[in-house]
Amino acid sequence: MQDTFYRNTWAEVNLEAIGYNITQMKQKLPAETRIIAVVKADGYGHGAIEVAKKAVKTGASAIAVALLEEAIVLRHAGISVPILVFGWVSPQDTPLAADYNLTLTFFQMEWLQEVKDRTFQRPLKLHMKWDTGMGRLGIRTEKELKQLLDELAESPNTRLTGIYTHFATADAADLTYYDEQQKRFQTLLQTFRKRWRHPVAIHIGNSAASIRFPEDMFQFTRLGIAMYGLYPSKTVKQERKINLKQAFSLYSRLIHVKKIQAGESISYGTTYTAKEDEWIGTIPIGYADGWIRKLQGMEVLVNGKRMPIVGRICMDQTMLRLDKAYPVGSKVTLIGKQGNEEITMDEVAAYLDTINYEIPCIITSRVPRVYKVSES
Ligand SMILES: *Cc1c(COP(=O)(O)O)cnc(C)c1O
Repeated sequence: MQDTFYRNTWAEVNLEAIGYNITQMKQKLPAETRIIAVVKADGYGHGAIEVAKKAVKTGASAIAVALLEEAIVLRHAGISVPILVFGWVSPQDTPLAADYNLTLTFFQMEWLQEVKDRTFQRPLKLHMKWDTGMGRLGIRTEKELKQLLDELAESPNTRLTGIYTHFATADAADLTYYDEQQKRFQTLLQTFRKRWRHPVAIHIGNSAASIRFPEDMFQFTRLGIAMYGLYPSKTVKQERKINLKQAFSLYSRLIHVKKIQAGESISYGTTYTAKEDEWIGTIPIGYADGWIRKLQGMEVLVNGKRMPIVGRICMDQTMLRLDKAYPVGSKVTLIGKQGNEEITMDEVAAYLDTINYEIPCIITSRVPRVYKVSES
């Protein structure tokens, strides 16, 4: 499953945890609400192909990605369920989407007019995006909706199979804006239902919305972050509506261990100087792996204990202050459990003043992903 690698740094992705999280979500959702597994950005850095396969096996009915190329990679890997592309695809590339039997997102009149004149192997499947307050992509008014539906009715080479919207604050404690978006969605939906009689799939929710309001999710939910075992926000975590298992761990090994004397310094710029005689370990991970320089000072686990990163993080290496000598080859946990200690994705995100979503995404493809299929 995994290409051979020789370095002593790797990410472990626990596919059982992914399966567990999907099952937890399914138990919360009404039976008629099915799951679209969101695997954009290489499965949030976990590996799109492996996650998509596991998701389909665990009962996801469809897959979603951001880009046309991400969808094509999945088709080549043998994923045959419907695949929705969230992002804008150039009209000239729509025949390719039809060839691969992909579903595209649309929301512009000019786009539809350009696509209308093209010939496809089979009708191009489309989901219409409604911007109810996210301010990113989508039609915003009833007027635009009516115009697009009129145009669609005259485009026999397309097939409208879904409509959707996206919430900006589904993970927040204050739900005022969420309610406002729901209202706008309902208004557009009424107009839509008056004008369009063919059945379409409706989906409005991401992880946060589907964990908090599972009854409101229509035919599908778009499950991203929660499938990876991460909570969309502190608020959602604290509400304890679902139990999730983090799937991604990051490991390295000590490749050099030495004693330095008081007054000696470590790494570029000599930002760290030992106050006493200390043991220093080197691990082969650096900012080129996405273990960015801002992580200087963050702790990692060695022998089940927390040890700080000292000195500047280099492109390929990072130094740690150890409490004693450890043999070369000792396992270092940068994200995940070791003994009774754990460094969560949330802790790394908090240290970097960002959200957990960003952390696995920034661990670069130089770090091999190893897939674990059963619990140890
Ligand atoms: C990324 C994305 C999702 C998934 O969101 P999560 O918060 O990760 O569940 C759902 N819908 C759209 C349109 C997205 O871009």
